[in-house]
Amino acid sequence: MERNRRIGVVGGGTMGNGIAQVFAQIGYPVVLVDSSPEALDRAAAQIQKSLERLVKKGTLAEQDVPEILERISRNTKPEALREAQLVVEAIFEDAQVKRELFARLDEVTGPDCILASNTSSISITEIAGATKRADRVIGMHFMNPVPVMTLVEIIRGLATSNETYKAVEGLTKELGKTPVEVQDYPGFVSNRVLMPMINEAVYCLMEGVATKESIDTVMKLGMNHPMGPLTLADFIGLDVCLHIMEVLHSGLGDDKYRPCPLLRKMVAAGRLGRKVGRGFYEYE
Ligand code: NAD
Repeated sequence: MERNRRIGVVGGGTMGNGIAQVFAQIGYPVVLVDSSPEALDRAAAQIQKSLERLVKKGTLAEQDVPEILERISRNTKPEALREAQLVVEAIFEDAQVKRELFARLDEVTGPDCILASNTSSISITEIAGATKRADRVIGMHFMNPVPVMTLVEIIRGLATSNETYKAVEGLTKELGKTPVEVQDYPGFVSNRVLMPMINEAVYCLMEGVATKESIDTVMKLGMNHPMGPLTLADFIGLDVCLHIMEVLHSGLGDDKYRPCPLLRKMVAAGRLGRKVGRGFYEYE
């Protein structure tokens, strides 16, 4: 990719602000688009906080911070992405909303612009179908928190060209991250393997196989996972876990992916995890 050409990021939430930050850190001018001006303000504050953390840790020079922040411009309209060479979408996880956005991006961006989605579970092929450039649509699945996690799953839709794949793979390496090539199937690799493990941990809890603390301890100490599956589920959000299990269940048509009834019950009760202060565990 060309260092002087813009990278667009649409959606300035949890993932979008991290994605904007990492591109600005390696020198790309970034245009961050969010339909909500408040979300853009929050994103700017979050990026500043995150950069200050890196300075404290000693991994970023203090004098570089203003320059990085200046590289990120903010806008509420996709039209601001006209000059972009790549746009990474990180808006709500809703297929219809994403398809509408991609149709719009197809109209407003130049013909050589690559359109990437950070979706966790929606088919890249389906999103690409909303555009007239399916060969230049791809999945770029960053992990949370973006500035810290080094994996990017790169998902090839049915029509994604080799040229598009190579460009995005190269850019991922420029970011200092590790690209992994994945084909477009429900849950890709990360959630196809992770979510059934979490779901099975919830079954263990529901069936009384062990307490929540014991289940988490087994996986932490026994498998060397940095956190247990129920703690991790609280961190991700139980509604997000349930949604992804439903995508796996319907997309793969196999009952081995059926969401655990206790997971459904927790979501119905509004115990969505850390973000609401209550999931399998209670939070301050
Ligand atoms: P979020 O809710 O924190 O942020 C979404 C942002 O998108 C909001 O600021 C909202 O105002 C904006 N938005 C919504 N519709 C828009 C539109 N049409 N145009 C412009 N802006 C719009 O969401 P998030 O957690 O950052 O997730 C974003 C995407 O990343 C989702 O597809 C999700 O599946 C994926 N993802 C999330 C995580 C995670 O851990 N949060 C990890 C990997 C992938």
